[in-house]
Amino acid sequence: MKLQGKVAVITGASMGIGEAIARLFLAEGAKLVLCARDSARVEAAAQRMGAAPGQVLTMACDVSQRDQVQALAQAALREFSRIDIWVNNAGFGLNDSIEKMDIGQLRTMFDTNYFGVMECMQTAIPIMRQQGGGEIVNISSVAGHICVAYMSGYGATKHALNALGEAGRMELGRYNINVLTVCPGYIATDFASNMLKGSNPQRVGASVKYGVGADVVARATLNGMLKRKRQVVTPWHYWLAIKLNENLPGLVEWAIRRSMKPTSQVLAEAAAKQK
Ligand code: NAP
Repeated sequence: MKLQGKVAVITGASMGIGEAIARLFLAEGAKLVLCARDSARVEAAAQRMGAAPGQVLTMACDVSQRDQVQALAQAALREFSRIDIWVNNAGFGLNDSIEKMDIGQLRTMFDTNYFGVMECMQTAIPIMRQQGGGEIVNISSVAGHICVAYMSGYGATKHALNALGEAGRMELGRYNINVLTVCPGYIATDFASNMLKGSNPQRVGASVKYGVGADVVARATLNGMLKRKRQVVTPWHYWLAIKLNENLPGLVEWAIRRSMKPTSQVLAEAAAKQK
């Protein structure tokens, strides 16, 4: 039980990667405060985990709204008296060309993927400082290292999150607060079907062949957090793609351009693979 006695807040915990992290943290003995915008779905996720009474608190919270984030933290303190871990997982994508992308949707995505994390960090830091330390985990993406065509805005939010993690670690180390940035590659969740799609969405076709389960990200997150790492890339082989992109960007660009397909076709292929 690696997290016995710890209290963890996890945003975007009603499905996918957030739910997998919550399930693993619960198995390791943590008490959980789980949120998403849809409270019924986050409650259903808690039921699926089979938590004992008093182990999990679920709440509706839109991380882009400061008052809702503060209410989440206050509820966590009322219920469990402390917050040791805060996982910023809530996020979504926007799939469209730079030429046609809706700027309103782009701002909405930044409000969740980047400013939402800022809201949560500004809420968690004073609490953790008062307690003498804590763990902040930001779920970024390999897209925070390698940007992909038709995902420019999403990639920008994740590049920004990587910058926030690097600076945050330098600023907060003196308070015994570690900031871990987790960069998953392609993970088999409903992320692609949930993302906002514009008038001309295209996506890397090959990625569906290599999707691993969200439990892989959860395990890598726990290990990275316990070792107080700076960054985790998961599955590990995406490090090779990141290094290749740093050293031979023309080759990576060529490969991405070559494998673009309409998003509807990529999603249909992914659904067929799941059957
Ligand atoms: P998902 O299955 O679509 O889950 C997204 C979760 O975030 C849901 O619980 C959703 O619930 C919640 N959410 C969205 N906007 C929110 C907001 N404003 N406030 C609170 N909760 C919000 O996606 P996922 O694949 O698990 O992705 C989780 C994180 O991993 C994201 O940050 C994503 O960028 C990152 N990631 C995913 C992949 C991948 O391949 N799947 C790869 C790299 C990184 P509600 O809609 O009810 O709010």
